[in-house]
Formats: sequence, structure tokens, C-alpha cells
Amino acid sequence: MDVRILVTDHLHKVFHELAKRCGIRVDERLGATRDELLRLVPGYDVLVVRSRTRVDGEIIAAGRKGRLRLIVRAGVGLDNIDLEAAKRYEVEVVNTPTASTQSVAELVLGLMIAAARSIAWLNYRARNGVWLKERGLELYGKTLLVVGFGRIGRRVAAMAKALGMRVKAYDVIDIERSARSLGVEPVYDLCEALRSADVVSVHVPLTKQTYHLFSDKLFECMKPRTIFINTSRGAVVDAEALLRALEEGKVYAAGLDVLEHEPPATPAEKKLLEHPRVIVTPHIGASTEEAQYRVAILSLAAITRRLGICCPEAEEAIKPVCDQLEEMGLNC
Ligand code: NAD
Repeated sequence: MDVRILVTDHLHKVFHELAKRCGIRVDERLGATRDELLRLVPGYDVLVVRSRTRVDGEIIAAGRKGRLRLIVRAGVGLDNIDLEAAKRYEVEVVNTPTASTQSVAELVLGLMIAAARSIAWLNYRARNGVWLKERGLELYGKTLLVVGFGRIGRRVAAMAKALGMRVKAYDVIDIERSARSLGVEPVYDLCEALRSADVVSVHVPLTKQTYHLFSDKLFECMKPRTIFINTSRGAVVDAEALLRALEEGKVYAAGLDVLEHEPPATPAEKKLLEHPRVIVTPHIGASTEEAQYRVAILSLAAITRRLGICCPEAEEAIKPVCDQLEEMGLNC
């Protein structure tokens, strides 16, 4: 079967190794520009991207005029792909949503503890010869509010319970059963829930409804000295409003893995980066060896299974990944 895959963002080497063993041709064009993509994409059955490559309607239309049948988003968020156009042109889009769940959840825990104890700032001061014995906060017994109780939100909740935190969760869908089964209290009024939360962790997708969801209005609902964590998408938070909340003491500290502009570009984002109580990481939620390995394996699995390619080597690699995800309560 003559299947051609175009990869435009960096993937774990196991993807290339396995594809070769399955007899699939993979061409890598890292950093391809939009014009290059428009020219190249009709020659491929599958386009594999991560978050860097923007796949707009024109690219999909160009692909459809040629061989393009499938777009694989090797990762979670689909906000860089024009899903409506893909539907219109009947190009299937798949992602690997569970591959990085554990890695992001672990980063959230890291940011929560780092924010509560000002680890990054105190380390920076110590390196510069200032031995500041600043007093921080414990997480034990505190209330965590998870906003967006999906895959990552649920994993964060389960791990926070192990730290002795009380966990509440808010979502726009019915989470009563999934929350209760994890010993989490579902809440239905976000502003009300923010009034009682010590730590808030955001795990919603970026949509028209969630753009700047956290703006002045919601920060005002928070009780003073809240720890605020965002590892979802930067544009879910209005950076200027977060800065004001920090200055007014509503937010005690913030841990941000994502910003609306990456790297930070606006004055507010630059101020957040320099703020002693803000920890910014450069969108590394899914950047672990384990997550990237799973992303690569699940991307290849999506391709072989969708295109009906029989490859025992790939199936052999997929099984342990799926077993591990099931152990974490996640779908393969
Ligand atoms: P998911 O789809 O499993 O969960 C998202 C949840 O948010 C769903 O339950 C959905 O109903 C809920 N939701 C949607 N709109 C909402 C709203 N307005 N208010 C409250 N809840 C709402 O997604 P996930 O895999 O848990 O990922 C969560 C977020 O993490 C996404 O934004 C994703 O892009 C991001 N992410 C970031 C990284 C990183 O590197 N930092 C890596 C992976 C995922």
C-alpha cells in the first residue's frame, strides 16, 4: 500500500522508526511555511502536525484536491486546525488527547507547590546571593477548584487528593458522577466556587466561550491570596486582569505554562514574566520523554488503523502504551 505521510513539526524518533518498519514513507519538513505547505500537501495522504503548524481551510482544500485524507494533530488542542473546513472537504482529523495527560497533570502539581513556596523566585534570589527565608503556604487541607473537569482536570484532582487537598470541580457538562467517583465535589456556580477556593487550576479548551474567561469579573470572585494555575491555553486568561489581581492581592501567586502570546509579547505578559510571585514555563506541559513517546505511538496507531494498514510491529508497540493509559483511567 503506497501511503505517504508529511510531518511538519518535530515528533519523537520512534514515529519515524516504526513507520519505516511498517513500510510507510514519511517526509519531514520541519518549520514548513504556509506557502510550502500549500504546495506540498496535495502529494500526501496524511499530514501530521503539532501546535506550531496552522492548518487553515485553504491548506485543507489544496490537500483534498490531491491525496490528503487524514490530518493527525500529534497532541491535544485542535485550535490550530480549521475543523469546519476539514469537515466540509471530508478530511478526517484525529488527535492523541490522552498521551500527555499525566505529564501536564504532574506539571500542574509542580507549579502549585512552586507557587505556594515561591520556589523559582527564592532560587533566583539565592543564586544572586540573597538568602531570603520567605514564608510560604502548605497545600494540605486547602481547597482546590478544578475548572474544566476533563482528562487533565480529573488527573490533577486525583493527585491533589493524595496531597490531602479538598477538591471541587466546575465544568459546563454534567460531571456529577465522574466527580463523586473521585471524591470530588461538583460545583455549578463558578463565581461562588471561586470564593471558597485556595487554589484554582484551569483545564478548559480554548473556544469562543473560554476566550478571556478569566478576566476582571472572575478574579473579583476569588478570595484574597488564591494560587492560580493555568496550563490550558494562554488566551483563556486576560493577562492584564491577572496582573491586576496579583497587585490587588486576590491572587497570591500564579503558575503559568501558557500565555496568549508565546513567547510573551504584550506589556502585561512581560510584567507577569518578571513578577516575583509568577512562575512562567514555556509551554512544556507535554514536553516529557514519556508523553512524546506516547504521542508518536498513538499518532502512528491512528494512521495505520484509519488507513487499514496491517503492521504487527506497530500493534506490538501500541499495546503497552494503551495498557499504561488504561491504568491511569484514560482511553487509548
Ligand atoms: P478535555 O477535553 O478532556 O477537558 C476539557 C474540559 O473542559 C471538558 O470537560 C469540557 O466540558 C470543559 N469545558 C469546556 N468549556 C468549559 C467552560 N467554559 N467552563 C468549564 N469547563 C469547560 O481536555 P484536556 O485533555 O483535559 O485538556 C485541557 C486543556 O489543556 C486544553 O486547553 C488543552 O489544550 C490543554 N493542554 C495543554 C498542554 C500543555 O502543554 N500545557 C498539553 C495538553 C493539553
